[in-house]
Amino acid sequence: MRNIEHFIGGRSVAGTSGRHGDVFDPNAGRVQARVALADAAELDRAVASAVDGQRAWAQVNPQRRARVLFEFKRLLERDMDTLARLLSSEHGKVLSDARGDLQRGLEVIEFSCGIPHLLKGEYTQGAGPGIDVFSARQPLGVVAGITPFNFPAMIPMWMFGPAIASGNAFILKPSERDPSVPVRLAELMLEAGLPEGVLNVVHGDKDVVEAILAHPLIKAVSFVGSSDIAQQVYARGAAHGKRMQCMGGAKNHGIVLPDADIDHVISDLMGAAYGSAGERCMALPVVVPVGEETAERLRARLVEAIAGLRVGTSFDADAHYGPVVTAAHKARIEGYIQAGVDEGAELVVDGRGFTMPGHEQGFFLKPCLFDRVTPDMRTYREEIFGPVLQIVRADSFEQALELPSRHQYGNGVTIFTRNGDAAREFAERVEVGMVGINVPIPVPVAYHGFGGWKRSGFGDLNQYGMDGVRFYTRTKIVTQRWPRGGASAHDFTMPTMQ
Ligand code: NAD
Repeated sequence: MRNIEHFIGGRSVAGTSGRHGDVFDPNAGRVQARVALADAAELDRAVASAVDGQRAWAQVNPQRRARVLFEFKRLLERDMDTLARLLSSEHGKVLSDARGDLQRGLEVIEFSCGIPHLLKGEYTQGAGPGIDVFSARQPLGVVAGITPFNFPAMIPMWMFGPAIASGNAFILKPSERDPSVPVRLAELMLEAGLPEGVLNVVHGDKDVVEAILAHPLIKAVSFVGSSDIAQQVYARGAAHGKRMQCMGGAKNHGIVLPDADIDHVISDLMGAAYGSAGERCMALPVVVPVGEETAERLRARLVEAIAGLRVGTSFDADAHYGPVVTAAHKARIEGYIQAGVDEGAELVVDGRGFTMPGHEQGFFLKPCLFDRVTPDMRTYREEIFGPVLQIVRADSFEQALELPSRHQYGNGVTIFTRNGDAAREFAERVEVGMVGINVPIPVPVAYHGFGGWKRSGFGDLNQYGMDGVRFYTRTKIVTQRWPRGGASAHDFTMPTMQ
């Protein structure tokens, strides 16, 4: 059995807590490796190494720090195929999706290569007699990131890219369900020239998360995962005086107005609802057709399109999506499907009970489609995170606007229409953080920022973009005066008021 170990101080370190987690092969449905689960003492060693590494790293000028990231980009591109295979083998997403996971993380690394420019402060000459004021962004010291299973490459890079470029040392606590790629990323950063101790990977579960939140030398924690845990982590970290940024779950809606281009909608919905087996925080698991005629047309076309979807192993080049991550997650999704039936929604396409020939134990689920889902249903209010699309019919634009606005989650939403005026009004009024207009998965590019509203995001700074740089730095403002002599009486006024 392969052991997946921590990466501390530039080397692989075996776990000493005596605790391990199982890492599955979701295609075969069996355990393929064991991952060490750290305790507080192991975290302590990683923090000590990070403190040492950070002091020297912060002294390296930003342009030289950026060169490490440029080299990391070259190495990641060199190893793209191997990394994608490793990612697919633990997560279950198909190879094209695994490459996308790596590529979108890489885009944040590319953004972070601009760090000399991004760290520049403001300057005012002559803020008073002989007085100049300037601001500088300084690193926080040692910071940490706790990441979910569904993007084991992209989300760690969202975090460590801007954090390390800004001069911090970073402790990554990746998901224990697919921990191999995060370790490879840290090894590649070392190969790219990052000094030892600046990027450490500590595996673990709730125990080590608790230790991170209480550790006095960790100054900030970025978290991405499900909402209940995000909220708890946010509160606990803040109570320990840390800067916190915690992204949570989602239930993204796609509104379809009667004038939408239906071919475009169907093609977008297939990828957005079922891609990566629905295990994306920016998936579109709810579609809201406006008006009965739109609903009937949409439903008929969805049923037709779903019949053409191919579920395969994560290495099947023709598969649209692969297995879900674990047997426990599959059982949870099936529980929601049954709950939907029990609470009266109409299960139009039932994807349960499928076994993949040659991979009978694999965690496969075919696509499911529900119609006549209503806002009071638990299966509508909660996140399913599987290949399940729900149709919620709306009578009017106002009702369609209200659904995502009133939902507990506010990550992403999309409107499909040819009417610019309606789209503009929707984008302005909807209470959701990321809005698409005829764009099914409106993930902002690396130089904007990613963040949901309501229970999809706790804290006020988004992931990546300028907010990423702001999160991992603090601003110092210096007011300086170089006296020319001639001071006479004691001065009781502010120098800048003179
Ligand atoms: P999760 O909440 O189970 O785990 C996230 C992280 O928290 C993992 O590192 C895990 O080890 C740790 N963790 C688990 N239980 C914990 C506990 N009780 N206390 C402290 N830490 C704990 O999430 P997941 O299943 O890995 O990922 C899927 C979830 O993440 C979905 O809800 C999805 O919507 C969300 N997600 C959100 C975004 C976003 O940016 N908003 C992006 C990706 C995924």
